[in-house]
Amino acid sequence: MTSKTYWLEHAWLGTHVEPGVALDVRDGRITAVRPDTDAPPPGAEILRGLTLPGLANAHSHAFHRALRGTVQVGSGTFWTWREVMYATADRLTPDTYHALARAVYAEMALAGVTAVGEFHYVHHAPGGTRYADPNAMGEALIAAADEAGIRITLLDTAYLSSGFGRPPTGHQLRFSDGDAGAWAARSSLLKERDHVRIGAAIHSVRAVPADQLETVARWAEERRAPLHVHLSEQTAENEACLEIHGCTPTQLLALHGVLGPRTTGVHNTHLTAEDISLIGGSGTGTCMCPTTERDLADGIGPAVALQNEGSPLSLGSDSHAVIDLFEEARAMELNERLRTRTRGHWTAAALLRAASADGHAALGWAEAGALEPGALADFTTIALDSVRTAGPLPRLGAETAVFAASAADVSHTVVAGRHVVRDGAHSLVPDVPRALADAVEALRG
Ligand SMILES: [Zn+2]
Repeated sequence: MTSKTYWLEHAWLGTHVEPGVALDVRDGRITAVRPDTDAPPPGAEILRGLTLPGLANAHSHAFHRALRGTVQVGSGTFWTWREVMYATADRLTPDTYHALARAVYAEMALAGVTAVGEFHYVHHAPGGTRYADPNAMGEALIAAADEAGIRITLLDTAYLSSGFGRPPTGHQLRFSDGDAGAWAARSSLLKERDHVRIGAAIHSVRAVPADQLETVARWAEERRAPLHVHLSEQTAENEACLEIHGCTPTQLLALHGVLGPRTTGVHNTHLTAEDISLIGGSGTGTCMCPTTERDLADGIGPAVALQNEGSPLSLGSDSHAVIDLFEEARAMELNERLRTRTRGHWTAAALLRAASADGHAALGWAEAGALEPGALADFTTIALDSVRTAGPLPRLGAETAVFAASAADVSHTVVAGRHVVRDGAHSLVPDVPRALADAVEALRG
């Protein structure tokens, strides 16, 4: 049994910032939150700055990090970007994937992320050949998260078709298990661990034939596991779905039992009013990925309307053009301002909740994302003396984190009571920039 006390100079307690808070932690959980603790108790670990619940990165494709700085330039569309992305996917092996993901998850820890949802579909060797361990790639990601000190929900993704029932081609062959039954058999071999949850994903209505959607939904239902799906990121997907099935992707998912409170639609960009009602009314979540959506010229999803209809919001850095959950949070609000030419669609507290508690819930970690007794001891501290955060702030609150700070201001990250980032340095991965550079270099064609 290990116990420890942290003294937080300032702590975000869900509704307000409290100065001087002692936090008792035992066996990876918070056992007591004691406000009005003016001075650090003897032996306490002192965290100067503003401590927040750990951040949840609810949508990640770790290997896309290798594309940063290369695919942002030039012209084209989502579809031309996808060709470059596929070429990188083709070069991954369990070893190179592990090295890259370890570095990317370490970058996330440095940005205050304590749990990642990895939307994982590079299952097999190029051409579709099975590895000796059919989950060698998924296990590489799980080991990477362990070594980087963060939690992972491996959203094992069914990717069976190049488009509405057409067989996978070329690069996509290594994504496919053949059919949803084979996907379920392989996914069922993955085991949860202390830092690991196993969830399911449907890549999209393009990549899973309609008559196999229910198999994936049932797999998640039986395990009470999170189920994620890329939904209406592109208008071309909507048009093809309408042509083939005579309904929108959201309607198709509803028809096949995919929507519900453990399901999260990722992007949810191009929706009809009925789609928004179906998503919100079923309690299906929405994961917005604003920095990726703007990079890929996707459009701006109706996050306000979705939330008003009952869809909880979470955030993800998706393609990792940027790994900064504060930027994702403020971008959601700022996108809406640009679109509507009015301000104040969310409070800073609501944006922070999307980046923490609601993101964790979307990944199956409902017991994380708050500084309260019983919660997992996952938190992160931002410095209040950096060039971005220094100065006499009129009001120290969530506004400071969401509208002033960046990932570079994260000074501490604690996961399950373990100090993973201390004074801005990763405790487990000694040189994260070097690890990233080496891992990306190994994948260059
Ligand atoms: Zn994605």
